[in-house]
Amino acid sequence: MHNKSLSELSASLHNGEFSSVELTQHYLDRINAHNETLNAFITVTDDSALKQAHVADQLLQQNKAGKLAGIPLAHKDIFCTQGVRTSCASKMLDNFIAPYNATVVEKINAAGMVTLGKTNMDEFAMGSSNETSFYGEVKNPWDTNRVPGGSSGGSAAAVAARLAPIATGTDTGGSIRQPASLCNLTGLKPTYGRISRYGMIAFASSLDQAGPMANSAEDAAMLLNEMAGFDDRDSTSVERDVPDYTETLNDSLDGLKIGLPKEYFGEGLDPDVAATIEAAVKMYESLGATIKEISLPNTGLAVPTYYVVAPAECSSNLSRMDGVRFGHRCDDPKDLLDLYQRSRGEGFGEEVKRRIMTGTYALSAGYYDAYYLKAQQCRRLISDDFQQAFNDVDVIMGPTAPTTAFNLGDKTDDPVAMYLADIYTISTNLAGLPGMSIPAGFVDGLPVGLQIIGNYFDEARLLNIAHRYQQATDWHQQTPAGFK
Ligand code: GLN
Repeated sequence: MHNKSLSELSASLHNGEFSSVELTQHYLDRINAHNETLNAFITVTDDSALKQAHVADQLLQQNKAGKLAGIPLAHKDIFCTQGVRTSCASKMLDNFIAPYNATVVEKINAAGMVTLGKTNMDEFAMGSSNETSFYGEVKNPWDTNRVPGGSSGGSAAAVAARLAPIATGTDTGGSIRQPASLCNLTGLKPTYGRISRYGMIAFASSLDQAGPMANSAEDAAMLLNEMAGFDDRDSTSVERDVPDYTETLNDSLDGLKIGLPKEYFGEGLDPDVAATIEAAVKMYESLGATIKEISLPNTGLAVPTYYVVAPAECSSNLSRMDGVRFGHRCDDPKDLLDLYQRSRGEGFGEEVKRRIMTGTYALSAGYYDAYYLKAQQCRRLISDDFQQAFNDVDVIMGPTAPTTAFNLGDKTDDPVAMYLADIYTISTNLAGLPGMSIPAGFVDGLPVGLQIIGNYFDEARLLNIAHRYQQATDWHQQTPAGFK
């Protein structure tokens, strides 16, 4: 059951081969067997999952069920789920039971899907290795001594190990694409504004975007169909029709113009990863595409720009965790200041504190112009580079991450080394563009992801480009040995 695609699962549920309750129980059993090893889930919602499955079965029997009805999935623990702990992997929110559903959760529930639980992540989505979680590190199913990537590492490990057929993730600087790359998944970060951020705990509001983490482009397209769309509760969501993303998956790639930014193939890129990406690009040539070298000259500004903008926004967003309204409160506060200081001091982990302090500094009077304003100007240059490139090419390709999965603990003492894990993904968030990572091969048994970046609202094109490659290759069908 757990090696079927979403459309195969849908067909089996609709023709009665198995029920949603049986399918859901199968996944709950797999979670039970493997979660101790992987630590991919923070919360497993067995009871409510089986209830949702039962409702889906009734709809299926009455022929009233939609395409995804009865199919289980997992949500990153950043999405508010009514009545269920929503921790953002922080001690701060360990006791927070969300009083409402995020729009993404609401829409997916309305499609009749079954929530298996909430997946582990870096604390408040800050990290590239899933080692900053209050609930402990997540292991990569391809090698449990290695990181799954972050911050959506729990979702990535869960889908890669077939503990869930598909999952949601969020991407502020790479957190869908980088773990997808390290775990052999298809992950899509849509255009900023394509999916509502309502009920998604904010990290950096101008960069955060939700998306699907899947075993194939087709599966990702099916979930994106449900996730995307305008929401009047998110003022930055865009009022624009949502196409059926599955309809154009098979379009021809004849004449597709692919740009390879020379800045994405320079120093710091592992030579074996580079060779894998080059082979994937060759495959696209055989599928009818033409290749052109391009330049994104301001690429070097992306990481420093991001590490001003994202901390600045998070220092503001996380100020609501004050020990008064949400989450952790210290014992016996002496006075209000003591309450704030100790609640926040105890509730937040080290990386979150580092970001809040950097962000507060960058926003303070006297430094604002030198850091925050400057970063916004750099952000514009980075966006302009992409628009310039899209005058000549349809999409941009390159590696998702500079290396394959690294060992647990390798970068935990060196924040800058960790930040560089997102060197190829961060620019697209700064520009608000859609980006995708798809399985492109293996180096020493570890997955390598190919990144595909499109212009605004080109999700359908990206999925089409990914799908055609997946028709011609079987990298995406490989499963990690211990989790067959
Ligand atoms: N690794 C980046 C960070 O730590 C991106 C995280 C994300 O996309 N949520 O900020």
